[in-house]
Amino acid sequence: MTSSAPTATPALLRGEGLPEFSAITAEAVSTHMPGLIAELHSQLTALEASLEAALASGDPLGWAQLMEPLQRLGERLRWSWGAVSHLNGVCNSPELREAHANQQAAVVQFGNRCGQSGVLYRALQTLQQQHAHSQPGEASYLDAAQLRILTAELRDMALRGVGLEGDAQQAFNVASQELAELSTRFGNQVLDATNQWTLKLTDAASVEGLPASLLSQLAQAAREGGDAEATAEQGPWLLGLDMPRYAPFMKYSRRRDLREQLYRAHISRASGGELNNWPLIERILTLRLEQAQRLGYTHWAEVSLAAKMADSEAAVEQLLEELRQAAYPVAQQELRSLEECARRQGAPEADGLQPWDISYWAEQLRQQSFELDSEALRPYFPLPRVLEGLFGLCSRLFDITIVAADGEAPTWHDDVRFFRVMEGPGAGDREGTPIAGFYLDPYSRPGSKRGGAWMDECLGRTQAPDGSAVLPVAYLICNQSPPVGDTPSLMTFEEVETLFHEFGHGLQHMLTTVERPQAAGINNVEWDAVELPSQFMENWCYDPTTLLGMARHWQNGEPLPEAEFSKLQAARTFMGGAATLRQVHFALTDLRLHSHWHPGCGRSPEELRRDIAAHTTVLPPIDEDAFLCSFGHIFAGGYAAGYYSYKWAEVLSADAFSAFEEVGLDNETQIRETGRRFRETVLSLGGSLDPQAVFAAFRGREPSSEALIRHSGLVAI
Ligand SMILES: [Zn+2]
Repeated sequence: MTSSAPTATPALLRGEGLPEFSAITAEAVSTHMPGLIAELHSQLTALEASLEAALASGDPLGWAQLMEPLQRLGERLRWSWGAVSHLNGVCNSPELREAHANQQAAVVQFGNRCGQSGVLYRALQTLQQQHAHSQPGEASYLDAAQLRILTAELRDMALRGVGLEGDAQQAFNVASQELAELSTRFGNQVLDATNQWTLKLTDAASVEGLPASLLSQLAQAAREGGDAEATAEQGPWLLGLDMPRYAPFMKYSRRRDLREQLYRAHISRASGGELNNWPLIERILTLRLEQAQRLGYTHWAEVSLAAKMADSEAAVEQLLEELRQAAYPVAQQELRSLEECARRQGAPEADGLQPWDISYWAEQLRQQSFELDSEALRPYFPLPRVLEGLFGLCSRLFDITIVAADGEAPTWHDDVRFFRVMEGPGAGDREGTPIAGFYLDPYSRPGSKRGGAWMDECLGRTQAPDGSAVLPVAYLICNQSPPVGDTPSLMTFEEVETLFHEFGHGLQHMLTTVERPQAAGINNVEWDAVELPSQFMENWCYDPTTLLGMARHWQNGEPLPEAEFSKLQAARTFMGGAATLRQVHFALTDLRLHSHWHPGCGRSPEELRRDIAAHTTVLPPIDEDAFLCSFGHIFAGGYAAGYYSYKWAEVLSADAFSAFEEVGLDNETQIRETGRRFRETVLSLGGSLDPQAVFAAFRGREPSSEALIRHSGLVAI
């Protein structure tokens, strides 16, 4: 007699619990993803059929009949594809990359099918109408979180054109396709124009002032360009328009003529000849305007704001104007300081600095005012101490205890650590109750790990089918230097800030108390509000108690000298007026192009931008300035009428931090109390409530830009 054991579910398809990373191979992806997607399609077909029948019968629909199955479909895909995408980011290989790329289109297509399903849309509308006609306590009455989830789902589907009919929908889809192609072309043309321009420098006088790291970069570029003998010391050196070469050259080169040449080439990228983005800009703006009108909005800015915390164009304009007024006089003052600095050094340009002088003189002035050597601070920030400081801060503010739990969870690399988060002593007899977990993958692994830092969802807070709680688990990924021998990973201050930033996202994911996964953690949080907890955490890097408490030399335990800490604080606001004004200029240009400009308005997009520049720049754009032609955020990325979000979120995070400043950063009792309130509002409620309401619940009032203006050093001099 033979007994056949039940076939084990492949790791990739388990759909719950922590993924068994080692079993999710490129081969597994190619073998199992197509089947999973086919199964999801047939489940969606079945769901649509049952909803169609329910709609035809006229019987009331229930949340459990519609939203729960829909959520389960999405979660099935998210769990499996999320694990694959995660591995693709942190342990890439040619095989995995190929397997990922091969499945991507099918995954996107499934998402599109869900987002554009007419039956789903009608069922969601029915659910909304039933709610509108019901009373609290009745079966079809939805609570606030349910209603917000439903409203967001309807809105997102409507913005994909699902509510349009016949010719209008046809036209909408054709325009969507054209817009997608135009933004790809826009981005490619910027890239090509950037790569097309080079300048070979051959004599030592032309590289005067450049740091060694830049010289070796330029020599490497020269070698790749065919000068096999190029060296950092002897040249030749090949200059280009990409950021890693452009930015430091503008900052350090003493050759004003070369800075000018480089600047002019950079600012006029993709604005003429074969690679001309001007016609694309007008076409993109025109198509977006038409799309907005098909959807029943006046212009694209309204479409963008429909899904954001900022509730009107006027609210965004008001914030930008507040920042502009604060930043403008400071930026003028900063320009004068740069001129004085140039004059002290006898530079002929002192009487009329040009755009290509700004980075250079700012760097000169920075070095004279405070020589901050970020490399020299590394020994004070060994990773283990920084983690201790971060976890201690979280315990103090949010009453949570974080403990290492290495070995308790499968990982994807030996350097990856696992931690558990539990209720702290303030929770009384609930102390030690598990709340969440997180992975920390701190070190860079060139070749197999994507650059940058990010937080992602491994598991979301939810309930298992048996009713037990599933605790949230986050991925926290950084890219800092690995330990060498007995030397731990020594971090720069920027890397410390980055870790705090990502941990802030992680806290919102992990400390959520929302029971509905669609609105738990960072889910359903408007994108101009999602950086609130992350930027909030960065502020603590400038709090003396927090920073000086953790910054100790890894060998002798010496604290970070106070003078160095003061330099960090000075660096935070150095040239703050110019930096703020620049962001205001970009944000306002973006907003007005998507609200004030239309094909018959009698002005070109560039003319509109120049009008804005008249009061948002202290050095007017030069004639060949074609910055719009390389403004990829709004023409090739997702920031159209959303560039303001950077500043919007900074207002929220600075204002949230100022609640702690108000009670006094050394008032321990009040700090703890304020921290608990932050946990119970911003970190707990996630996307279950309107972000204005969440903010008001924490702060007791609407957001104010006062704290950001102060933190940016823009208070009237
Ligand atoms: Zn972030």
